[in-house]
Amino acid sequence: MTSVLHACAFKDNYIWLIRGQSPDKVAVVDPGDAEPVLAEIHQRHLTPVAILCTHHHADHVGGVENILKHYSFLPVYGPARERIPAVTYRLKHGDHVKLPKLGLEFDVLDVPGHTAGHIAFFGAGMVFCGDTLFSAGCGRLFEGTPEQMHASLAKFSALPESTEMYCGHEYTEANLRFALAVEPDNADMHAHLQEVQQRRAENLPTLPSTIGRERRINPFLRSGQAAVRLAAEKHCGHPLNSEVEVFAAIRRWKDGFKG
Ligand SMILES: [Zn+2]
Repeated sequence: MTSVLHACAFKDNYIWLIRGQSPDKVAVVDPGDAEPVLAEIHQRHLTPVAILCTHHHADHVGGVENILKHYSFLPVYGPARERIPAVTYRLKHGDHVKLPKLGLEFDVLDVPGHTAGHIAFFGAGMVFCGDTLFSAGCGRLFEGTPEQMHASLAKFSALPESTEMYCGHEYTEANLRFALAVEPDNADMHAHLQEVQQRRAENLPTLPSTIGRERRINPFLRSGQAAVRLAAEKHCGHPLNSEVEVFAAIRRWKDGFKG
């Protein structure tokens, strides 16, 4: 049975450890720091069999080379269109990652916007989406356009509802406060905020989420909803003529939002 462990890094990063059919083997996703990964691996007597990287930011790949010092033959999978020195398999949309030691396979999705070459890994009912999609939010547009990011988010939204969503940061509570500024009457957002606050009070992750839930609570997947468009128009003071314009307006609104 597949299960996913995590190591915490920095202030709010999650490094995911995907456990496949053999319980002692894991694939490590976005190791920004080696030390918490190695600690988790040693404590649980695990063996890493692969590293998966979604994008080039240091808080996602900064630990790769130090992990390789301990496990030098690990294959490292990462985006073809970004420079990550240790990557051995450069991936683009439509590629498949086969991890036979875990009994798992992932499809590669190109999801530019946060960074220009950002990829995500989708398989076994899970998606590892890095800093593109967050629970109740999305990544900042450092290297991409609103058009690109909107199209990338649409790829996630089109995945099956039950897909478990593993993103790179614990931002859910702050994201929901913004989501409720956009949709103050959204009952799903209110209910989920309560659940999230309980989990955070116990220092538990609010992840994974599911794609079905994100469609209900994530304003960045909801730019086609009338309530979201009206709120965005009111905030920016002029009509918005497409879903991309609505998306761009709420992304800018969030950039300046102080919960
Ligand atoms: Zn990032």
